[in-house]
Amino acid sequence: MDTASMGAHDAVRTAPRALATEAVHAGRDDLARQGLHAPPIDLSTTYPSYDSRGEAARIDAFAATGADPDGPPVYGRLGNPTVARFETALARLEGSEAAVAFASGMAALSAVLLVRASMGLRHVVAVRPLYGCSDHLLTAGLLGSEVTWTDPAGIAEALRPDTGLVIVESPANPTLAEVDLRAVAHACGSVPLLVDNTFATPVLQRPAEQGARLVLHSATKYLGGHGDVLAGVVACDEEFAGRLRQVRFATGGVLHPLAGYLLLRGLSTLPVRVRAASANAAELAHRLAADPRVTRVHYPRIGGAMVSFEIHGDPHEVIAGVRLITPAVSLGSVDTLIQHPASISHRIVDADDRRGAGVSDRLLRMSVGLEDVDDLWSDLDQALKRLETAPTALRCSPPHPHPSKQIHPAAQ
Ligand SMILES: *Cc1c(COP(=O)(O)O)cnc(C)c1O
Repeated sequence: MDTASMGAHDAVRTAPRALATEAVHAGRDDLARQGLHAPPIDLSTTYPSYDSRGEAARIDAFAATGADPDGPPVYGRLGNPTVARFETALARLEGSEAAVAFASGMAALSAVLLVRASMGLRHVVAVRPLYGCSDHLLTAGLLGSEVTWTDPAGIAEALRPDTGLVIVESPANPTLAEVDLRAVAHACGSVPLLVDNTFATPVLQRPAEQGARLVLHSATKYLGGHGDVLAGVVACDEEFAGRLRQVRFATGGVLHPLAGYLLLRGLSTLPVRVRAASANAAELAHRLAADPRVTRVHYPRIGGAMVSFEIHGDPHEVIAGVRLITPAVSLGSVDTLIQHPASISHRIVDADDRRGAGVSDRLLRMSVGLEDVDDLWSDLDQALKRLETAPTALRCSPPHPHPSKQIHPAAQ
């Protein structure tokens, strides 16, 4: 049994370590002492114990604070040692006290909303655009929350006595709009700020250092990094983490230990993947900006591996035309994906709200992977050629050259 992983990593850490070092060592510091190199996978759902008095005390302690139980685990929904390794590692990368993992990004966001609602704080202030399903969860009030949408400058004014949370994404899905996190954190006062850091990853941005109390990831994306794990995680202080663990225990949105293992493995290459894919993305953004078939390119100031662009003509033609690039929703994998937000990732958002948030019907969102950049460009180029021949595209908008077009660093 892998009990040494539960909360024991801090004890053996000595000097502060750089992100690249944490990426391959955090959550694994005890392994060498155990005579192991790869982290063990603990698939147990339950754990035998002859000391039921001790177990009762551990359950009482968890009910009081939500702290990870000391000693041997009790039951899989209360905590798992393999998942705990991933949580320890991600907390270290984000520079937070703790992290709590969930079955998906949406399960993570749901748990945060439930924590605040259980304290009577049902009002949420949020800045569009957000990921389509996050927008939907808030707008539909599925968990009993009530949302006020505003821009970053309107946050302070939108706060009410029952506001439990402020939510922003930066860079945002899918326009890559950026918000000044420090200014937003200041505007929140004592209300917790949740920053969805899925697109930037801790390699490019650590929102906790800028005043965010909660840092959320769809770990399905860059943290896993290979398109084969669905997961979510919230990095935060230990007090909030305790409440999240209690909600996770009560509602059951736990992460499977195999997924925890794959995420820990994914973190070890996160810095090199993000840097290499970002270099590709920056080059593609540059080439797209110089292309007369493209009307606007969105690429964040902080960089990253996501590029969004608007085109002359019908975006469905580009989706139908790619061959090397995969036409699929999601992002953050080793290979390049492209999708049309108005049709797929943000379809569930009301069309007027979507357009109001800057998500044009002609916007395409590309998650750039690790392929050779010239191969990627050739594929994009041949897909964009369909715009020149598609009759609907010519009717919509003749392909005038726009030689002065700039990359649009979408800041608010
Ligand atoms: C995908 C995504 C989510 C939702 O995560 P799932 O793992 O799909 O539940 C949340 N936020 C952002 C920015 C995303 O891209």
